[in-house]
Order: sequence, then C-alpha cells, then structure tokens
Amino acid sequence: MAERAVACADSQSINRMLDVLIIGAGPVGLACALETQRKGLKAAIVEKGALVNSLVGYPTNMEFFSTPELLEIGGYPFPTAHYKPLREDALDYYQRVARDEKLTIRLHEKVLSMSGEQGDFLVETSQGKIRTRNVIVATGFYDLPNPLNVPGEDLPHVSHYYKEPYQHVLQHVVVIGAKNSSAKAALQMTRAGARVTLIVRGPEVSNSVKYWIRPDLVNRIAEGRITAHFNTTITAITPEAVEVLTPEGPLRIATDFVYALTGYHPDEALLGRLGVEPDPADEARAPLFDPATHETTQPGVFVAGTVCGGRATSRWFIENGRHHAQLIAAHIAGQLAPQLA
Ligand SMILES: Cc1cc2nc3c(=O)[nH]c(=O)nc-3n(C[C@H](O)[C@H](O)[C@H](O)COP(=O)(O)OP(=O)(O)OC[C@H]3O[C@@H](n4cnc5c(N)ncnc54)[C@H](O)[C@@H]3O)c2cc1C
Repeated sequence: MAERAVACADSQSINRMLDVLIIGAGPVGLACALETQRKGLKAAIVEKGALVNSLVGYPTNMEFFSTPELLEIGGYPFPTAHYKPLREDALDYYQRVARDEKLTIRLHEKVLSMSGEQGDFLVETSQGKIRTRNVIVATGFYDLPNPLNVPGEDLPHVSHYYKEPYQHVLQHVVVIGAKNSSAKAALQMTRAGARVTLIVRGPEVSNSVKYWIRPDLVNRIAEGRITAHFNTTITAITPEAVEVLTPEGPLRIATDFVYALTGYHPDEALLGRLGVEPDPADEARAPLFDPATHETTQPGVFVAGTVCGGRATSRWFIENGRHHAQLIAAHIAGQLAPQLA
C-alpha cells in the first residue's frame, strides 16, 4: 500500500538538531508540523501510536459533530459525501495531508522526558534521543480515562473505549455516563439488539449532549427500550454485575459488559517532565501559556490543541485548536529568523 504510506522519516533524518519537535500526530500536531515546515523550519513529529492515533481509537462508525471545512488544516479542502464527516473520512484526510506535505513523522515512538533549555533541548523517547531548539506539545487527552475508583474497575469486561455494537448483540450492557459518547453508544447498541442500562450520576441526560442526539436518547428511555438510573453512583463491579447506589437504595444490575465512558484527562506527569506548569488559578489544571504565542512558562516549549484545556477536555477541539499552529509557527519562525537568514 505504498500509495497510502505517510512520508515517515527514518531515524537518520532527525539525527540533526531540529528547529521544532512536535509531540503527537493528532490533527493539531499535524497542523503544527505543516505550518512550521512552511515557515522553513526543520520540524518533525514523534507519535507514540498510529497517525492520528486518537481518531483511530474512536468508535468505528463515528460521525463528527463538525462539518468538514471546520476540520481542515493547512488549507487542504476536505470534501465528503456526507454533511458531517465519518471517522474514516477524517482518517483518510489527515493521512493525505501528512503525505502531501511530506511531513517527517516517527510513529510508534513515545516521548518520555526532556532535559536542556530553549535552543538545545534533548528529548528522550522510547527509541532514543532527539535534539531540538523548540518543542510543541500536542498530546491531547484520549489515552488516560478518568477512573471510577471502585473495586472491579480493572476486570476484563470493563472498557473505557467503545468501538462498535456487534459484540454485544443479545447481551446486557451497562453504560456509565450520560454525555455524547455514552448517549451514542447506548443508542447504537440498543438498535443492534443489546439490552442497555445507563447509569447517570446527575438527575438527567446531560444538556451538553448534542441537540440531535439528546431527544433520541430521552425518548428511548421514556419508552423503556433503555433503562436509566439517575442520581446513581457505582459502588463496585463484579464479573457478573454492577453494584450501584440509587436514591432508593443499593441495587445489583446483572451485566455481560460495562462501558465506563466517564471522560479522559491529559498526561499531567508527562507535562511536568516537559516543564509545562499548570495554571494554579484554573480548576482544570490547564497549562499556563501565553495566549498570543502558546509558549508555556518554560521558554521554547509550546502547547497546542486539546492539551491546552487541561482537564477541561471540551474547551479546545479540532475546530478551534487547529488555529494554534499558525500562532506558534509565526512566533518560532520570528525568533529563529536571524539563524535562518
Ligand atoms: C467521539 C468524538 C467525536 C469528536 N468530534 C469532534 C468534532 O466533530 N469536531 C471537533 O472539532 N472535535 C471533535 N472531537 C474532539 C477532537 O477529536 C479532539 O479535539 C482532537 O483529536 C484533538 O486533536 P489534538 O491533535 O489536540 O489531540 P489528539 O488527536 O488526541 O492527538 C494527540 C496525539 O498525541 C499522541 N501522544 C500522546 N502522548 C504522547 C507521547 N508521550 N509521545 C508521543 N505521542 C504522544 C497521541 O497518541 C495522539 O495521537 C471529538 C472527539 C471524540 C472523542
């Protein structure tokens, strides 16, 4: 499949000092690589998984909320057959941009830590060390699920990632959470023939659920196709059941599978090792950065994309996060201009 291969660098090509190392090949990391490269900077991405790894992990038939033009990067048109792009459309689109721009990307290599200072950072990865003048952290948040902190959470039939309904047909499934991901998963599995029970901590399906999804879920609950327990918390998960505390008292719900779709958070330990400080005034522990340049308090280290919101994971997304790339690229190019001349 040479046609589909991304222009990945071999280790030789980033043995020399880089102007910019981007951590993470999500949509925003790709935008950062593309914009810095277009400014004449020597840029490379290190990505711990596949290209656009978060999107690879999204539900198989997932449909984006945004229309395609709002997901575009680098001015590349994103034509789709549907009003809203599907996950596959976006996977194709971003890999095509990476290939056409001949971005230097090392996949399946994880950034572990960093030493040095602006102008000469030494970034340690699972495969070796990379020297770079600047670092852009575009690591998103999708790798670390928010834990339930209950016994049984690590059992093999508990997952924080929903892919598709087919393995659950004619089975009992408990879905924990009532935001967009839980709502869509519950509806899809119900329609495929699973018996879904929704456990919701609050009094109703979240008002943040998209306006075209919420009524569908509310009506399926009203007609009894989906059982929902509101104001309910999980107390334990066993191999056969989920134990919950409802307003009426404790309840045991027999189940074959559990989806704990309770959100995700950024890798704060990694951010700390990269010298990125959280904003002490922000409950979400978002990184402290200059909004004009996205430079953090560690000179030469920038944040881009969803990681900028800390634990407030819906503060930044592709639509608004992709614009960080131009700000950062312009700033770094301006600083390095005398050296590039
Ligand atoms: C179901 C769903 C639907 C969505 N729909 C929309 C939508 O319609 N519109 C929209 O704008 N947004 C949408 N979003 C949000 C959007 O997908 C994210 O905001 C987007 O992926 C953020 O891009 P990013 O590049 O900042 O981070 P990510 O895409 O998460 O990329 C971060 C990358 O960093 C890599 N990484 C992490 N740690 C390391 C490390 N130590 N070393 C190397 N690499 C590392 C990860 O593997 C990952 O590939 C949706 C999200 C979900 C879950």
